[in-house]
Amino acid sequence: MKSLANIAGCVDDIMATCGDHPELLVQYLCRIQWRYNCIPPEAIELLAVRLGLPVAHIRGVIGFYAFLHETPRGDFNILISDSITDQMLGSRALLDRLCRQLGVQAGVARADGRVTVDTTSCTGMCDQGPALLVNGFALTRLDVARVDAVAALVEAGTPVQDWPAAFFAVEDNIRRRDRLLNAPRSTDGALRLFLQQGADAMLETIDRSGLRGRGGAGFRTASKWRFCRQAPGGRRYVVCNADEGEPGTFKDRVLLNSFADEVFEGMTLCAGITGAQQGFLYLRGEYRYLLEALESVLARRRSAGLLGRDILGRQGFDFDIAIHMGAGAYVCGEESALIESLEGKRGIPRKRPPFPVTRGLRQQPTVVNNVETLFAATCIARFGADWFRASGTEQSTGTKLLSVSGDCVRPGIYEYPLGVTVGQVIEDCGAEHAQAVQLAGAAGTIIPRDEFDTRISYEDVDTGGAFMVFGPERDLLDMVRNFVHFFAHESCGFCTPCRVGGTLLKNLVDKVYAGRAGEYDLQKIRDICRLMRDTSHCGLGSATPNPVMSTLEKVPSIYRRRLCTSDYEPAFDLEAELEEARRITGRDDSGAHIGRET
Ligand code: SF4
Repeated sequence: MKSLANIAGCVDDIMATCGDHPELLVQYLCRIQWRYNCIPPEAIELLAVRLGLPVAHIRGVIGFYAFLHETPRGDFNILISDSITDQMLGSRALLDRLCRQLGVQAGVARADGRVTVDTTSCTGMCDQGPALLVNGFALTRLDVARVDAVAALVEAGTPVQDWPAAFFAVEDNIRRRDRLLNAPRSTDGALRLFLQQGADAMLETIDRSGLRGRGGAGFRTASKWRFCRQAPGGRRYVVCNADEGEPGTFKDRVLLNSFADEVFEGMTLCAGITGAQQGFLYLRGEYRYLLEALESVLARRRSAGLLGRDILGRQGFDFDIAIHMGAGAYVCGEESALIESLEGKRGIPRKRPPFPVTRGLRQQPTVVNNVETLFAATCIARFGADWFRASGTEQSTGTKLLSVSGDCVRPGIYEYPLGVTVGQVIEDCGAEHAQAVQLAGAAGTIIPRDEFDTRISYEDVDTGGAFMVFGPERDLLDMVRNFVHFFAHESCGFCTPCRVGGTLLKNLVDKVYAGRAGEYDLQKIRDICRLMRDTSHCGLGSATPNPVMSTLEKVPSIYRRRLCTSDYEPAFDLEAELEEARRITGRDDSGAHIGRET
């Protein structure tokens, strides 16, 4: 069990490093969690006094984020990815094996406090899974040998930093490059051109390029920057949304690992155009292993005069970037929830309008852009609007990075001009026999084999990047189940349609899966989907029905072949529920069973 010594000293150190402000609450809590594997009550009391916040508020924030815990986790806190592609690679069997080896029950700390083994949603390593997080660090390519080695290291008490480095290797796996990934590298080319041309001309270039947000929403980037620039407000902010939590998406991981300069330069360019002086990169908790390297890139850029005061000698061009960690909340990928989290609160999505471009962080105009969008903006600034428009289609200019995973020979990152067909990607990644692709992750849509001529573009079907391949032997209802469980788990609970509807939907899909559903249940599923889509407060709730609705429409056989003949079957299985009572009372006679003849 980790020593709880010197909590006050630890809190002092963290506040000295991060700064001293209630908005940094989530950042303090992350670091306390990293140090003690929990948030001890003494730390909560100290933070409450130091920040002038109610204890209940701090506990509410801890309870919101999956990676923060008041109850101690084991010294080795192991979270195995439960994403559908990792399940397809055998993650469940590896989880069982690890639990057996270590003598633990999933989700319960071992009595000696040595280890906790649990599951987590997608870790962003779908191209090199199954993966796990140990004390926050990603360990890839799990197999039986690696699981056995992990168990031995845990039993020996070997500190994670002394585990074999090969376990933690995360490869970029770039399989196809197009104009963005092939562009000559530079740390400051876009900024120098910006200073030569001025903000108006550069904004015009971004506008003419037709660049649209690459996170999935597809809003025109130049419009967002212009709205923020024109909005009344004292201060402005630029936020890079690196909370890449959509299952099956991992392109931002690669860009942050190998193209961080371009991403930070894109933020600085946006600041130059909008007049922002402060930027934040909100980094997904699962990518904690990137934090140190990203801080080094920022430090190098400060020394080179690319961040800080008077950037590149231009008086008054002041901008700097801080990295804030996420803590395991998928909903924080929604821009207003992300802003709430940046302000140190639970990541509950805000009511919109007003949109962040007019009232965002600290109620000031704020641009929130995806990692890939900022990377593309830097390249457009350097090579021009026509260079970018030369790829893609009329409404979907440029290229798109796809995160390809699942049943294919060559999973990884593929950059294509927008308008590429699903079939082309299938051919390139080595998945000729695929029965279907799930495009855009859990919130996306199914593309069955007879629709592989579908084009990936805003005119046809768009995607934030996830491209999950399902081979001919897969049961697509497994995928649907995985996604509805995921959404029910990730709902922030703020609004009833999503909080209750998500659980009802999960239960009904489970009922179909168990072969206990009828037509009535399918109709119920449709009704709940419609209600969630139309009345949820934010995109998470309205997108939850997507995988269900699209499979019901395009591959209904995955439901129909499981329906039982009766028209209505209750969800509650009374006979099964009586099993516990029979066990306790030691009865197994006919009177202890429903409907058994006496
Ligand atoms: Fe929260 Fe879901 Fe409502 Fe969004 S839709 S606010 S995630 S409960």
